[in-house]
Amino acid sequence: MSTDTHAPFEKDPGRPRSTGELIRLEKVTKRFGDHTVLDNLDFSVDAGKHVTLIGPSGSGKTTILRLLMTLLKPDEGTITVDGDQLFPASEKQVREVRKKIGMVFQQFNLFPNMTVLRNITEAPVTVLGMSKDAAEERARELLEMVGLSDHIDKHPAQLSGGQQQRVAIARALAMRPQVLLLDEVTSALDPELVAGVLDVLRDIARSTDITMLCVTHEMNFARDISDQVLMFDSGRIIEAGPPEKIFSEPEHDRTREFLSAVL
Ligand code: ADP
Repeated sequence: MSTDTHAPFEKDPGRPRSTGELIRLEKVTKRFGDHTVLDNLDFSVDAGKHVTLIGPSGSGKTTILRLLMTLLKPDEGTITVDGDQLFPASEKQVREVRKKIGMVFQQFNLFPNMTVLRNITEAPVTVLGMSKDAAEERARELLEMVGLSDHIDKHPAQLSGGQQQRVAIARALAMRPQVLLLDEVTSALDPELVAGVLDVLRDIARSTDITMLCVTHEMNFARDISDQVLMFDSGRIIEAGPPEKIFSEPEHDRTREFLSAVL
């Protein structure tokens, strides 16, 4: 358990938000060489929903998050975020879409030479054009929410992995994203640090209306926060549904095998 206490998350009235369908993948295929990693994939996510991607390692889950972040391009198919098509898109359009999406990675990816405060204020100031004072005020609020107010002037190396990951979550939220992509954010953590990070994410899921797409092996967490669970196998969604259905009455043998291996 984490020893840091944290304030509840509150709705951020200034954060841009949409309603209805926010993300759509249509007939998306992604290959690396002759390996088809995503195979003619279709799915959509409505604004405010929490969708969890589960399935064996190598089934294509992270590739979806990387496509949405425009870190990769699909070989076929279309991806739209908030009505804007990602490929093809001009650099300006890609920048606009990226502003709507925050991502937290397995390996934190904080800037090692910057303080915690600066890690959080850097992008809002340089990318969103926020004033330094406003960005710092928001960073302090976010650090309170993730339970790290006492660590504001430290550098990442002075923090535990769990604390670094909570800074990374605060940094993603500081950009006021409509969508938060979470890529196995607890996989690199020592077991005793996992709960503190998941608690923060549960709070975000409960008390904000940010759309969340989450790749995780933490099945209890997935059960708690998800509106929908997508089960992947070999680049396809083989089963989708609400968590109570997928975890309690899976239809597909592969889902049953996967769950019995991880639960
Ligand atoms: P998951 O998140 O479900 O574990 P990934 O989306 O990370 O799966 O990977 C799916 C497959 O794509 C894996 O077989 C992986 O080795 C392969 N892959 C991912 N990125 C690359 C890359 N840049 N070059 C070649 N193969 C890749």
